[in-house]
Amino acid sequence: MSHVFHRMPRQAYPVAVGGEGAYVLDADGKRYLDASGGAAVSCLGHSHAGVIAAIKAQLDALPFAHTSFFTTPAAEALADLLAESAPPGLDHVYFVSGGSEAIEAALKLARQYFVERGEPQRRRFIARRQSYHGNTLGALAVGGNLGRRTLFEPLLIDVEHVSPCYAYRDQQAGETAQAYGERLARELDATIERLGAETVIGFVAETVSGATLGAVPAVPGYFQRLREVCDRHGILLILDEVMCGMGRTGTLFACEQEGMVPDIVTVAKGLGAGYQPIGAMIASSKVYEAILAGSGFFHHGHTYVGHAAACAGALAVQRAIAEENLLARVRELGAGLASRLRQVFQHHEHVGDIRGRGLFWGLEFVADKAAKLPFDPALRLHARIKANAMHEGLMCYPSGGTLDGRAGDHVLLAPPYILEEPQLDEIVEKLGRAVDRSIAEIRG
Ligand code: PLP
Repeated sequence: MSHVFHRMPRQAYPVAVGGEGAYVLDADGKRYLDASGGAAVSCLGHSHAGVIAAIKAQLDALPFAHTSFFTTPAAEALADLLAESAPPGLDHVYFVSGGSEAIEAALKLARQYFVERGEPQRRRFIARRQSYHGNTLGALAVGGNLGRRTLFEPLLIDVEHVSPCYAYRDQQAGETAQAYGERLARELDATIERLGAETVIGFVAETVSGATLGAVPAVPGYFQRLREVCDRHGILLILDEVMCGMGRTGTLFACEQEGMVPDIVTVAKGLGAGYQPIGAMIASSKVYEAILAGSGFFHHGHTYVGHAAACAGALAVQRAIAEENLLARVRELGAGLASRLRQVFQHHEHVGDIRGRGLFWGLEFVADKAAKLPFDPALRLHARIKANAMHEGLMCYPSGGTLDGRAGDHVLLAPPYILEEPQLDEIVEKLGRAVDRSIAEIRG
C-alpha cells in the first residue's frame, strides 16, 4: 500500500524515475514523450543541465532567506527580467509557489487596490464560465468549471460568470469574429451594469483557455473590447497566464498578441518549467503605486514567497528561453505541430475542432461532427485517450466531463520548446492510435 495520498487513490501510477529531454522514464524503463509538459509545465524538458546547475549553485550558496528579512540576487534578477520583458507598465513582480497562489495574490491585491483608493464597497469579481484558475478557494471561486466548484460552492466568494470566448461552440452562423467579440464585450458590459460597477473589483480571464477547454485562443479584437469595457467602468482586468504564459504561445506573454495590457497578469508553470515550484503575479505601476501611496503594505504573504532556489531555477529557465532563442522555436515547431494535427485529425470523424497557438494545441472530440454533438460524459472519452496515450508512451492532458453544464472531451498538447522535429511525428502518430483505440473501446 502506498502512503502517498494520491488524488485518485484507486488508480495505479507508473513510477517516474528519470528524465531525458522531452521524455520521462519510469521504473520499468518505459519512455513517455511528454507532449503536454505535464500540464503545460515542463517547457525545457526534463534534463536541462544549465537550469539544474543554477539551482545547485543557489543551494550551495543559500537555499532560502525569508522575505520578511531579506531579498536575494536571484529574486531581484528574475523580477528585473520579467518586468523588462512584460508588456509596458507591468513591472512589479510578486513571487509565489504556483498558479493558484498567484491568482489568490492577484485577487487580494485587486481588492486592496480599491480599499486603498477609498472604495471598499467593491467586493466582487466577474470571471468566465468553463475557465480554470486553480484549486484554492479564491481561485476556485473565479474558476468556472462546475465539476470542480460544486462541492465547495458554500465556501466560495461572490463571483459572477459570463460566457467564455469559445468560437467553435458559440460563434453563431454568419457572425464575424469581430461581431462575436463585440457581443461578448456587450455581455460583460451589461453584467457590470446589472451588478453596479461600484461593487465590482475586476474581470478575470485566461488569455488562452487551457485546462478546461484545451487551448482556445480568443477571437481577434476580443480582449481589446474587454479592456475598453473594464476601463469604462473603472474595474481591473486580470489575465491568468499560468498555463499560456512564459513563451507557450510563441511570445513570452500571451497578451502580447492581443494588443492590450492587463492591470495584473499571473504566471507559473513555464516560469520554473517544473525544475522548481514557482509562480508570480505581475502588477502594473497603477496598482502598485496605490499600495505604495496608501498603507505601504500588501496584506498578503506566504513563507516561501521569493524562495531563493526557486527564483534561481526560474531565472535560469527564463535565460535559457532567451539565449536558446526558444520563442522563435516555439513558433516554428508550433506551425509544424499544427499542420501535422490538421493532416491527421482534420478529417477524423470524431475530431470537431483543432485550435491553439504556438506549442499550445487542443483537440475537441465529438460524437457527431456535423451537429457538434459531444460524447456522453459518462463514457469519459478524454480519460480513455489519456490512458491509451500512456500505454503508447505519450503524455497528453485530458479535460472533459460536464464543464459548466456543457459536455465535452478535450485533449491538450503543450510539449517542451526543446522538442526535435521527428518528435512532432511521434506525437501525432501515438495520439492517433490512442484516439482510435479509445473510440473503439466506447463503441464496444
Ligand atoms: N490558472 C490556470 C490558467 C491554470 O491552468 C492553473 C493550473 O492548471 C492554475 C491557475 C493553478 O495553478 P497551480 O496548479 O499551480 O496551482
